[in-house]
Amino acid sequence: MTETDRFTKERERMVEFQIRTRGIRGERVLAAMRKVPRHLFVPEGLEQSSYEDRPLPIGEEQTISQPYIVAVMTENLELRPESRVLEIGAGSGYQAALLAELAGSVTSVERIESLADRARENLARAGITSVRIVIGDGTEGYPPGAPYDAIIITAASPAVPQPLIDQLAEGGRLVAPIGPRDCQDLVKLVKREGRVATTSLGGVCFVPLIGVFGWSGEGL
Ligand code: SAH
Repeated sequence: MTETDRFTKERERMVEFQIRTRGIRGERVLAAMRKVPRHLFVPEGLEQSSYEDRPLPIGEEQTISQPYIVAVMTENLELRPESRVLEIGAGSGYQAALLAELAGSVTSVERIESLADRARENLARAGITSVRIVIGDGTEGYPPGAPYDAIIITAASPAVPQPLIDQLAEGGRLVAPIGPRDCQDLVKLVKREGRVATTSLGGVCFVPLIGVFGWSGEGL
Protein backbone atom coordinates (compact mmCIF):
# COMPACT_ATOMS: atom_id res chain seq x y z
CA MET A 1 0.00 0.00 0.00
CA THR A 2 1.34 3.46 -0.87
CA GLU A 3 1.61 6.16 1.77
CA THR A 4 -1.20 8.10 0.05
CA ASP A 5 -3.48 5.04 0.22
CA ARG A 6 -2.62 4.58 3.88
CA PHE A 7 -3.49 8.21 4.68
CA THR A 8 -6.77 7.81 2.75
CA LYS A 9 -7.65 4.79 4.92
CA GLU A 10 -6.71 6.68 8.10
CA ARG A 11 -8.92 9.56 7.00
CA GLU A 12 -11.87 7.22 6.41
CA ARG A 13 -11.39 5.79 9.91
CA MET A 14 -11.11 9.30 11.37
CA VAL A 15 -14.43 10.32 9.80
CA GLU A 16 -16.18 7.12 10.84
CA PHE A 17 -15.02 6.83 14.46
CA GLN A 18 -14.24 10.40 15.50
CA ILE A 19 -16.86 12.30 13.52
CA ARG A 20 -19.85 10.25 12.34
CA THR A 21 -20.31 8.11 15.43
CA ARG A 22 -20.20 11.25 17.57
CA GLY A 23 -23.25 12.61 15.81
CA ILE A 24 -22.11 14.63 12.79
CA ARG A 25 -24.51 13.52 10.05
CA GLY A 26 -24.25 16.13 7.32
CA GLU A 27 -23.20 14.13 4.26
CA ARG A 28 -21.49 17.10 2.60
CA VAL A 29 -19.38 17.78 5.72
CA LEU A 30 -18.45 14.10 6.08
CA ALA A 31 -17.51 13.88 2.39
CA ALA A 32 -15.34 17.00 2.62
CA MET A 33 -13.52 15.59 5.65
CA ARG A 34 -12.95 12.31 3.82
CA LYS A 35 -11.51 14.24 0.90
CA VAL A 36 -9.23 16.96 2.35
CA PRO A 37 -5.74 15.53 3.04
CA ARG A 38 -5.20 16.74 6.63
CA HIS A 39 -1.64 15.32 6.64
CA LEU A 40 -0.65 18.06 4.15
CA PHE A 41 -1.59 20.74 6.72
CA VAL A 42 0.58 19.65 9.67
CA PRO A 43 4.29 20.48 10.08
CA GLU A 44 6.89 18.11 8.66
CA GLY A 45 7.44 15.17 10.98
CA LEU A 46 3.87 15.21 12.38
CA GLU A 47 2.17 13.66 9.33
CA GLN A 48 1.87 10.30 11.05
CA SER A 49 -0.19 11.93 13.85
CA SER A 50 -2.38 14.00 11.58
CA TYR A 51 -5.46 11.76 11.80
CA GLU A 52 -5.35 11.34 15.58
CA ASP A 53 -8.20 12.54 17.78
CA ARG A 54 -6.46 15.73 19.01
CA PRO A 55 -5.14 19.14 18.07
CA LEU A 56 -1.50 19.40 16.90
CA PRO A 57 1.08 22.22 17.10
CA ILE A 58 1.65 24.19 13.87
CA GLY A 59 4.36 26.59 15.10
CA GLU A 60 4.18 30.14 16.55
CA GLU A 61 2.42 28.58 19.59
CA GLN A 62 -0.67 27.91 17.48
CA THR A 63 -2.57 24.67 16.81
CA ILE A 64 -4.61 22.91 14.14
CA SER A 65 -7.86 21.94 15.90
CA GLN A 66 -8.99 18.42 16.75
CA PRO A 67 -10.89 16.94 13.75
CA TYR A 68 -14.13 16.55 15.71
CA ILE A 69 -14.17 20.21 16.76
CA VAL A 70 -13.51 21.22 13.14
CA ALA A 71 -16.50 19.05 12.14
CA VAL A 72 -18.85 20.55 14.75
CA MET A 73 -17.93 24.09 13.75
CA THR A 74 -18.21 23.36 10.03
CA GLU A 75 -21.57 21.59 10.35
CA ASN A 76 -23.03 24.52 12.28
CA LEU A 77 -22.10 26.98 9.54
CA GLU A 78 -24.80 25.25 7.40
CA LEU A 79 -22.90 25.89 4.18
CA ARG A 80 -24.37 25.72 0.71
CA PRO A 81 -22.43 25.65 -2.58
CA GLU A 82 -23.06 29.38 -3.08
CA SER A 83 -22.27 30.51 0.51
CA ARG A 84 -19.79 33.33 1.11
CA VAL A 85 -17.60 32.48 4.09
CA LEU A 86 -15.13 34.38 6.27
CA GLU A 87 -12.70 32.55 8.56
CA ILE A 88 -10.70 34.33 11.24
CA GLY A 89 -7.45 32.47 12.04
CA ALA A 90 -6.20 30.65 8.93
CA GLY A 91 -3.49 28.81 10.91
CA SER A 92 -2.53 25.78 8.82
CA GLY A 93 -5.24 26.38 6.19
CA TYR A 94 -6.97 23.04 6.96
CA GLN A 95 -10.29 24.53 8.05
CA ALA A 96 -10.19 26.88 5.06
CA ALA A 97 -9.67 23.88 2.76
CA LEU A 98 -12.82 22.24 4.11
CA LEU A 99 -14.76 25.48 3.72
CA ALA A 100 -13.58 25.68 0.09
CA GLU A 101 -15.04 22.20 -0.54
CA LEU A 102 -18.41 23.25 0.85
CA ALA A 103 -18.94 26.91 -0.04
CA GLY A 104 -18.75 29.31 -2.95
CA SER A 105 -16.14 31.77 -1.73
CA VAL A 106 -13.74 31.63 1.22
CA THR A 107 -11.64 34.39 2.71
CA SER A 108 -9.45 33.63 5.72
CA VAL A 109 -7.68 36.28 7.80
CA GLU A 110 -4.46 35.44 9.68
CA ARG A 111 -2.44 37.82 11.86
CA ILE A 112 0.90 35.94 11.73
CA GLU A 113 2.55 36.34 8.34
CA SER A 114 4.65 33.15 8.48
CA LEU A 115 1.51 31.09 9.16
CA ALA A 116 -0.37 32.82 6.34
CA ASP A 117 2.50 31.92 3.97
CA ARG A 118 2.46 28.32 5.15
CA ALA A 119 -1.33 28.11 4.85
CA ARG A 120 -1.09 29.29 1.22
CA GLU A 121 1.58 26.64 0.53
CA ASN A 122 -0.44 23.89 2.20
CA LEU A 123 -3.57 24.79 0.24
CA ALA A 124 -1.60 24.80 -3.03
CA ARG A 125 -0.13 21.36 -2.24
CA ALA A 126 -3.66 20.10 -1.61
CA GLY A 127 -4.72 21.50 -4.99
CA ILE A 128 -7.07 24.11 -3.51
CA THR A 129 -6.82 27.41 -5.36
CA SER A 130 -10.03 29.19 -4.40
CA VAL A 131 -9.19 30.38 -0.85
CA ARG A 132 -8.10 33.98 -0.33
CA ILE A 133 -5.72 34.33 2.65
CA VAL A 134 -5.44 37.87 3.99
CA ILE A 135 -2.92 39.08 6.58
CA GLY A 136 -4.43 41.32 9.24
CA ASP A 137 -6.42 41.64 12.45
CA GLY A 138 -9.47 39.48 11.86
CA THR A 139 -11.30 40.93 14.88
CA GLU A 140 -12.11 43.78 12.48
CA GLY A 141 -13.39 41.31 9.90
CA TYR A 142 -12.75 41.86 6.21
CA PRO A 143 -15.16 44.54 4.97
CA PRO A 144 -14.37 44.19 1.23
CA GLY A 145 -16.06 40.76 1.14
CA ALA A 146 -19.00 41.56 3.43
CA PRO A 147 -21.73 40.57 4.02
CA TYR A 148 -20.93 36.90 4.72
CA ASP A 149 -23.40 34.02 4.93
CA ALA A 150 -21.13 32.32 7.45
CA ILE A 151 -18.27 33.42 9.73
CA ILE A 152 -16.04 31.07 11.72
CA ILE A 153 -13.58 32.28 14.35
CA THR A 154 -10.96 29.63 15.10
CA ALA A 155 -9.38 31.42 18.07
CA ALA A 156 -10.92 32.31 21.43
CA SER A 157 -12.35 35.73 22.16
CA PRO A 158 -13.79 37.25 25.37
CA ALA A 159 -16.84 38.33 23.33
CA VAL A 160 -17.92 38.12 19.69
CA PRO A 161 -16.22 41.08 17.94
CA GLN A 162 -18.92 43.57 16.89
CA PRO A 163 -17.45 44.13 13.38
CA LEU A 164 -18.01 40.44 12.65
CA ILE A 165 -21.65 40.63 13.72
CA ASP A 166 -22.00 43.71 11.50
CA GLN A 167 -20.48 41.85 8.53
CA LEU A 168 -22.83 38.86 8.87
CA ALA A 169 -25.63 38.70 6.27
CA GLU A 170 -29.30 38.45 7.16
CA GLY A 171 -29.87 34.77 8.03
CA GLY A 172 -26.10 34.32 8.45
CA ARG A 173 -24.41 31.98 10.95
CA LEU A 174 -21.34 32.71 13.08
CA VAL A 175 -19.53 30.03 15.11
CA ALA A 176 -16.84 30.94 17.66
CA PRO A 177 -15.24 29.94 20.98
CA ILE A 178 -16.22 32.66 23.45
CA GLY A 179 -15.14 33.05 27.07
CA PRO A 180 -12.09 32.99 29.35
CA ARG A 181 -8.51 32.73 28.11
CA ASP A 182 -7.95 29.00 28.74
CA CYS A 183 -11.26 27.29 27.86
CA GLN A 184 -14.49 28.59 26.35
CA ASP A 185 -18.05 27.94 25.25
CA LEU A 186 -18.45 27.23 21.54
CA VAL A 187 -21.34 29.44 20.45
CA LYS A 188 -23.48 29.75 17.33
CA LEU A 189 -25.09 33.06 16.43
CA VAL A 190 -27.83 33.39 13.85
CA LYS A 191 -28.69 36.88 12.59
CA ARG A 192 -32.33 37.63 11.83
CA GLU A 193 -33.79 41.06 11.17
CA GLY A 194 -30.59 42.62 12.49
CA ARG A 195 -30.70 40.73 15.82
CA VAL A 196 -28.65 37.72 16.86
CA ALA A 197 -29.89 34.56 18.58
CA THR A 198 -27.15 32.63 20.42
CA THR A 199 -26.97 28.91 21.23
CA SER A 200 -24.23 26.93 22.95
CA LEU A 201 -22.51 23.98 21.27
CA GLY A 202 -20.41 22.89 24.28
CA GLY A 203 -17.04 23.42 25.94
CA VAL A 204 -13.77 23.88 24.00
CA CYS A 205 -10.21 25.17 24.55
CA PHE A 206 -8.75 27.41 21.82
CA VAL A 207 -5.67 29.63 21.48
CA PRO A 208 -6.46 33.34 22.00
CA LEU A 209 -7.81 35.71 19.35
CA ILE A 210 -5.47 38.68 19.57
CA GLY A 211 -6.62 42.04 18.27
CA VAL A 212 -8.54 45.26 18.74
CA PHE A 213 -11.84 43.43 19.45
CA GLY A 214 -10.24 40.33 21.03
CA TRP A 215 -7.51 39.85 23.65
CA SER A 216 -4.56 42.22 23.86
CA GLY A 217 -1.28 40.52 22.88
CA GLU A 218 0.42 41.57 26.12
CA GLY A 219 1.58 38.98 28.63
CA LEU A 220 1.35 36.05 26.22
N1 SAH B 1 -8.17 27.33 11.61
C1 SAH B 1 -6.79 26.95 11.80
C2 SAH B 1 -6.37 26.87 13.25
C3 SAH B 1 -6.36 28.19 13.87
S1 SAH B 1 -5.31 28.40 15.28
C4 SAH B 1 -6.47 25.65 11.09
O1 SAH B 1 -7.35 25.06 10.46
O2 SAH B 1 -5.31 25.24 11.15
C5 SAH B 1 -5.76 30.10 15.55
C6 SAH B 1 -5.16 31.05 14.56
O3 SAH B 1 -5.73 32.33 14.80
C7 SAH B 1 -3.65 31.22 14.72
O4 SAH B 1 -3.02 30.98 13.50
C8 SAH B 1 -3.51 32.69 15.15
O5 SAH B 1 -2.33 33.30 14.67
C9 SAH B 1 -4.75 33.29 14.54
N2 SAH B 1 -5.19 34.57 15.11
C10 SAH B 1 -5.22 34.97 16.40
N3 SAH B 1 -5.72 36.21 16.50
C11 SAH B 1 -6.03 36.62 15.24
C12 SAH B 1 -6.58 37.81 14.68
N4 SAH B 1 -6.95 38.86 15.42
N5 SAH B 1 -6.76 37.87 13.35
C13 SAH B 1 -6.41 36.82 12.54
N6 SAH B 1 -5.88 35.68 13.02
C14 SAH B 1 -5.70 35.57 14.35
